[in-house]
Amino acid sequence: VSDYSEQRPWLQHYDQEVEETLAYPEATLNDLFEQGVSQNSQKTALVFFGKCLTYAELLEYIRRLAGSLQERGIVRGDRVALLLPNCPQFVMSYYALLRLGATVVPINPLSTEPELLHIMRDGQVKAAISLDLWVERLENVRAVCREAGEGWLKDTYYTSLREFLPFSLQILYLLRQKMAPESKQRLAQAGRFSDLLHKEEILSERSQVDVHHEVAVLIYTGGTTGKPKGVMLSHYALVANARQCSSWAGMTSEDSILTVLPIFHGFGMSVCMNAPLLAGAAALLVPRFTVEDILKAIHRFRPTLFAGVPTMYVALINHRQLARYDLASLRGCFVGAAPLAPEVKRRFEELTGSRLMEGYGLTEAVTALCANPYRGVNKTGSIGIPFPDVVIQIRDLETGERELSPGETGELVIQAPELMLGYHRRPQETAGVLRDGWLFTGDLGYRDEEGYFYIVDRKKDMIITGGFNVYPREVEDVLYEHPAVREVSVIGVADAYKGEKVKAFIVFREGAQASQEEILSFCRQHLLPYKVPKEIEFRQELPKTAIGKILKRALRE
Ligand code: AMP
Repeated sequence: VSDYSEQRPWLQHYDQEVEETLAYPEATLNDLFEQGVSQNSQKTALVFFGKCLTYAELLEYIRRLAGSLQERGIVRGDRVALLLPNCPQFVMSYYALLRLGATVVPINPLSTEPELLHIMRDGQVKAAISLDLWVERLENVRAVCREAGEGWLKDTYYTSLREFLPFSLQILYLLRQKMAPESKQRLAQAGRFSDLLHKEEILSERSQVDVHHEVAVLIYTGGTTGKPKGVMLSHYALVANARQCSSWAGMTSEDSILTVLPIFHGFGMSVCMNAPLLAGAAALLVPRFTVEDILKAIHRFRPTLFAGVPTMYVALINHRQLARYDLASLRGCFVGAAPLAPEVKRRFEELTGSRLMEGYGLTEAVTALCANPYRGVNKTGSIGIPFPDVVIQIRDLETGERELSPGETGELVIQAPELMLGYHRRPQETAGVLRDGWLFTGDLGYRDEEGYFYIVDRKKDMIITGGFNVYPREVEDVLYEHPAVREVSVIGVADAYKGEKVKAFIVFREGAQASQEEILSFCRQHLLPYKVPKEIEFRQELPKTAIGKILKRALRE
């Protein structure tokens, strides 16, 4: 980008030396990981329920796994699904597949069968690595495919965590389902993950991949309207984003990050797995989010970094015994993936003494593209400033061609080295969002005079009521300030007279209550009349996605 430095007036807000541009080697993530191991071989790479794997050990497993997978017919360009929670086997499998030049298809292991079937079919997945717990589901998918005469789902390997690391995994016991005898029999035929690691011989040859054009990760996203789309991310995109994230947070081999965000989603994958592993830091893998587990893990393992989505911070600030835990090891807490109410940020910082930095990104560009600077001005309500080599423009909504001035709201349009190659087998949808090398995000926002960006809302979430535009986020931010409110989501529902009307879903804090009238009068004090909800529904909890975003689609339904 030629006039890059002119577009970065915000550099003055850093009180640290920042690089305007970073070097992105023409190598795969796995190549870079392997190069790094020579300096960090005896350092901890992964921690899982208190057990550690060093960088040297992790590399050894990756190589054995790559060799075994290759021996079983996985070759460059094959797509292999990982249906795993955060666990060492995910990391090994991911890097082993990259080493082979294969494509990783990370899938939420709790996907329903139709979702799984859609991804397996659309992604033409060749093999899957999964927990025995979920093999039954995979088997069902396989049965459907067999009936449909498709021979592409050739093999299923499964892991048994308890076999691999023999210690108690209470969380997995909780999830464990009773298996039908037929499934047990079928399982007996599936390969065991642990066998893939026992091979001494290393057969794997390093694949020479085209890092710019070959797909390293195919990650399914969206689905709020229609079926999830496969986002094709190149090796180069993964390297670029991981470098930007680790450089922005100043990650070093002294750091450790609490990896509770699912690594099958872009945010967890890049910020909490790839970035720390490139920096020689340790990733503390936690397979499931519960507030207690997180607080205990921070207290006990003393990570220096934590990344989460807003609902995680809502849960943390509402935990009654937050003060009992020592969170002093955290030097940085990051948040993104969904709107963060200013009140939640304020309370988190007040209660913990940590700085909470908000960022923004999307799967179509791996994940985070900008954030409040780690050192420097951290503006509440802002998603911060672009990472090196990322350009964000605010374009007008009518043509998408005119760049708007500071303060004007338009669509966020992005240019960056980590933009996706496109949606898998969806040229039309790709052309709709990737135009002339720019990614049209569908998010509305503005920039201030100092170059900080703000998200107003998603284009498709905007409510039009009686001709007025209401951004649900503004109403949500106000409701988060009400002392009885723990969590809230605002949507538009059909209204015969006004087209749409504003509806709020509210979850109270433990032991707190408020009447509908109290909530409404609070809103009237802070909002223009047409923005005040016309309907309120009190709920015990709100539906969330795997990563913890509030699922507005489910609320609408
Ligand atoms: P995903 O592809 O699942 O990572 O979702 C990306 C979407 O999440 C973006 O297009 C935004 O709509 C939303 N998002 C991400 N970060 C933020 C943020 N800090 N504030 C508001 N919305 C966000």
